[in-house]
Amino acid sequence: MDDIADSNPILDAALDYPYVEYKAEEPLSRVVAFGDHSHKCPVYVERTPPCTAACPAGEDIRGYHNLLRETERSADKWAEAFRRIVDKNPFPAIMGRVCPAPCEASCNRAKVDQSVGINAVEHAIGQYALEHKLPLEPAGPASGHRVAVVGGGPAGLSCAYQLRRRGHAVTIYEAAPKLGGMVRYGIMGYRVSRDVLDAEIQRILDLGVEVKTGVAVGRDVTLEELSRAHDAVFVGIGAQKGRNLRVPGGEGTPHATNAIDFLAAFERDGEAMLRGRQVRDVLVLGDGDVAMDVARLALRLGARATVASAVPRAEMACSRYELEEAEADGASFRHGVSVVEILRDGEHVRGVRCVQMEKKAKGEEGWNAKIPFLRYKPVPRSDFEVACDMVVASIGQATDTAGFEQATAGAPFIPVDASYKVPGLANVYAGGDILKIDLITTAVGQGRKAAEAIDATLRGIARAPATRADVIGMDRLHLWYFPKSEMARRKHACSEAVRGAFHEVLSPLTAAEAASESGRCMSCGQCFSCRQCLLYCPQEAIRMFKSNPIGETMFTDYAKCVGCHICAEICPCGYIDMGMGEGL
Ligand SMILES: Cc1cc2nc3c(=O)[nH]c(=O)nc-3n(C[C@H](O)[C@H](O)[C@H](O)COP(=O)(O)OP(=O)(O)OC[C@H]3O[C@@H](n4cnc5c(N)ncnc54)[C@H](O)[C@@H]3O)c2cc1C
Ligand code: SF4
Ligand code: SF4
Ligand code: SF4
Repeated sequence: MDDIADSNPILDAALDYPYVEYKAEEPLSRVVAFGDHSHKCPVYVERTPPCTAACPAGEDIRGYHNLLRETERSADKWAEAFRRIVDKNPFPAIMGRVCPAPCEASCNRAKVDQSVGINAVEHAIGQYALEHKLPLEPAGPASGHRVAVVGGGPAGLSCAYQLRRRGHAVTIYEAAPKLGGMVRYGIMGYRVSRDVLDAEIQRILDLGVEVKTGVAVGRDVTLEELSRAHDAVFVGIGAQKGRNLRVPGGEGTPHATNAIDFLAAFERDGEAMLRGRQVRDVLVLGDGDVAMDVARLALRLGARATVASAVPRAEMACSRYELEEAEADGASFRHGVSVVEILRDGEHVRGVRCVQMEKKAKGEEGWNAKIPFLRYKPVPRSDFEVACDMVVASIGQATDTAGFEQATAGAPFIPVDASYKVPGLANVYAGGDILKIDLITTAVGQGRKAAEAIDATLRGIARAPATRADVIGMDRLHLWYFPKSEMARRKHACSEAVRGAFHEVLSPLTAAEAASESGRCMSCGQCFSCRQCLLYCPQEAIRMFKSNPIGETMFTDYAKCVGCHICAEICPCGYIDMGMGEGL
């Protein structure tokens, strides 16, 4: 053994190789080990897994799975897994509860049996960190720069955190009484408990972020004033307005409201939001995730909830998961209907007039629109009445850009360049729902990327242009190694007594369940030291150095390698390329 290590210049070169740190935002392939130019031997190439490529926050998902299943060694795997997540996303406990997990939809394992339960593992890591009061890394040495963050939702908080850890002084200006944005005023406590929300926000504030709540930029201070008083400004004001129904009775009728106002009113006033009036039947119009949130809150308030959707169940815009949760809670559904009038009895809602909807004929305008609702049209003279005493329109959100006209140039959203900088303004950046209404993970990712751009500008560092991710697909994996298994499922609280049940419904996996679920990860694009190449190499050309970092444990002795390709054919995670020579 020693003779090879002592005498092999290739091995020495590999051991001396200055391995670059893996960065999800710079995900080009990197050659981890290489040797001479004999055109025949294996090279180890790390690629971006599709889960990370699909996570807008940019989490190193493969990294925390490899920690939990102990492929990557660590003195405290849970604390290290937490550090790995919060490098990109400071809200693992929140995201583990409510992210719809685009990462799972892209996970290679989904094509083998079922996706890895990434969101559930994230939930378990977030929970561990809260229970063990794990802090974020402290603020970096003071840079002398001051940045204003407008809006204390996920985008603003993510940006504030990333700036503060880089040593910049940060002040958040928030119009609402509390931080959290739509996670507090839209996502109800039965999905994210306020203890969890407050704890993950507090962890950021503990780094020394200053907060001014109850300050609306545009009303109490102008964007221009902030821009002059700070080295940079980040705008993360989200989309704060709900859309009311534009039908007779849609405006100005008590108990005819929109989803955003309905949910925010509960967060602000609790059950007092109903102003003492008994509400028995709530009709929710819409077919998205937010409509499910409204129905589930109405049920918890003790009402019956009916969701009226213009489209059949199969075409609803909401995720299957949200739909099934609403059904399990007891919501009723009327498909293929739309509301054309809100009916009043004096002051109060007594019902709605509906029409039947039918699919547009092929070729008719909108027949194949992206938004399911637009593919349908009313059936003439099909109207009928449905009784209810409250109507909540869940038909989308809108932005409120008053005071930000300089940034929007009259548009309803703020435009940004590739660095999240607002064109035409010297030091103003933006991210989150104010760019395009989307998800928390998107807001978190954009807040981080804007912070990185602000940091680079303030320090005068030139940034390398973004490169296209080299994402590893199924075609490069060798699946024989992975026995079929099912995704771990989290427990949901029994929905028998939904009324008054404002506690969280989703329980995290246990530590053992989470570690076992991480074991299902195929480590796409990075060696996980399975030793198959070493065992199958007919030349005994492959050596393992167990104490090297993950991805850097295997080395080929090119003096012995005959270029048979067996290792590349056997490697489960597609880490070996044959093709050393030109181009590398
Ligand atoms: C009902 C509902 C349910 C949702 N459920 C999910 C879910 O399950 N999973 C998911 O990933 N996403 C969900 N979303 C989407 C998610 O909440 C948003 O994408 C995310 O919160 C956007 O973050 P943001 O920071 O850009 O904006 P916001 O969260 O809206 O935060 C913006 C903040 O800016 C403040 N602000 C606004 N104007 C000013 C001003 N002029 N001055 C100072 N402060 C200002 C606001 O008060 C707010 O605190 C949901 C949204 C809603 C409405
Ligand atoms: S934030 Fe969402 S997309 Fe990203 S890893 Fe977590 S669940 Fe997946
Ligand atoms: S198997 Fe693992 S590395 Fe591969 S896409 Fe899924 S979670 Fe990511
Ligand atoms: S076969 Fe196993 S040990 Fe060899 S490179 Fe691939 S993952 Fe690593």
